[in-house]
Amino acid sequence: MAGIYIHIPFCRHKCSYCDFVSFPDKVDYAEAYMACLYKELKMRGEELKDRTFDTVYFGGGTPSYIPPKLILGAMNQIKKCFKLSEDAEITLELNPGTIGESKVKTYLEAGINRFSIGLQTAIDEQLEDLGRIHNARDYVYATKLLNGQNFSTDVMLGLKNQTKEDVRKTIELAHVCGSKHISMYALTVEDGTPIYTDYLNGELPDSDEVAEMYEYGCKLLKEKGYERYEISNFAVPGYESKHNLNYWKRGEYIGFGVSASSFMQGSRFTNTFQLDEYMKCIISGFYPAITCEKVAESEAKFEFIMLGLRTKYGVSLKEYKQKFGNEMAEDFPKALRESLKYLELDGDRIRIKDEFLYVQNSILMPFMDELPAEETEKKTEE
Ligand code: SF4
Repeated sequence: MAGIYIHIPFCRHKCSYCDFVSFPDKVDYAEAYMACLYKELKMRGEELKDRTFDTVYFGGGTPSYIPPKLILGAMNQIKKCFKLSEDAEITLELNPGTIGESKVKTYLEAGINRFSIGLQTAIDEQLEDLGRIHNARDYVYATKLLNGQNFSTDVMLGLKNQTKEDVRKTIELAHVCGSKHISMYALTVEDGTPIYTDYLNGELPDSDEVAEMYEYGCKLLKEKGYERYEISNFAVPGYESKHNLNYWKRGEYIGFGVSASSFMQGSRFTNTFQLDEYMKCIISGFYPAITCEKVAESEAKFEFIMLGLRTKYGVSLKEYKQKFGNEMAEDFPKALRESLKYLELDGDRIRIKDEFLYVQNSILMPFMDELPAEETEKKTEE
C-alpha cells in the first residue's frame, strides 16, 4: 500500500492548543499556495508514475476552509499525475464551522469518499475554551449535509472541566449522527500554546483522570459497536482508516505542501515549515524538502515493532523475518522477556494484551533500550 498526503495550512482561527503548521491569517494565499501544490504534484508525479496509490488524505490546517474548487483542482491534478487504485480511500478533514451544501457537492464531485470531522467535544463551553470555531449544533448540521457519506469523528480527552458524562455525551452524539469511525485521543499540551497556562495552573485533568476517561470511553464505544483497532482509533468493522493503517504498517506515503513529510524507499523527508519558502522553492522548480534521512536498519526494526504494537493486529513474526532477515527474538531477546506478561501470541502475530494497550509507551521502552547503536545517515536536500 501507499498513500498521498496533502497539507492545507489555513485556518480561520488558531485553536488554543494548536501546535500544527497552520496559519490563521493567510487564507488570501490559498489560491497561490494551491497552484504551487499542483506543481509539486506534477514534479513528483513524473518520478512516481509507475506507482499505484491507495489512499489520499487532505489534512491541515482546515482543508474545508479554503474554496472547494481548490480541493477539486488538487484531486484533478492527483488523478492526472498519479495512478490511484480503483477503490482508493480519499479523505478530507472537515471543520464543522466551515461547511455548506455547495462545498459538500464539490467534494463529492472531486471523489472524496470519506470525511474526518473535528468535533472534539459536544460541550460548547469546552469548545470555546479550546478556541474552536464551531459548536455541537454545527457538528450535527455538518453530518446532516454529508447525508449518509462515510465519516469519522475526532473526540478529545483531558479538557478543562471535562467529566465522564461529557465524554459519554460526545460519543453518543457522534454515534447518533452516524459516525462509523471515532478517533479518541488525549489533548497534548505543548509549551508555547495558550492552553499551556491552564496546564501550569493545574486546571486540566491529570493523567490518571484522563486514563479513566479513556477506559470509560473505550467501554462505551465497544457497547456501541466500535472496535478498537489502534490505541486511539475505533471503527465499526469494515470502516477502519486505510490511510492510517498504512502508516502503522510502515507503508510508504508521499506528502505535499508546507511541512508535509514523506516516507519512500527507506528514506524520510520533510518539506519546509515556512509558507513563503515553500512557495519560492516550488516556483523556482526545486523540491521544498529541508531534511532527508535514510532510516537506519535498527530504527526501521523498532518502528516496525512500535507501529505494529499500536494496533490490534500486532506484529507478524514472519513479516519481521522477511523484512529484516533475523528473528525478532534474536534482535530483541531481553525486551521480549521483559514485556512477556503484557504480550500475547496469536498465530504468528505478537500483540499487546487489550488491557495494556493504553500503556504501550512503557511496554516499548525495553525495545528502545535494546536497539543497537547505529548512526542514521542524514543528508539535506538542496
Ligand atoms: S483547526 Fe486544527 S489546525 Fe486549525 S488551528 Fe485548530 S487545531 Fe490547529
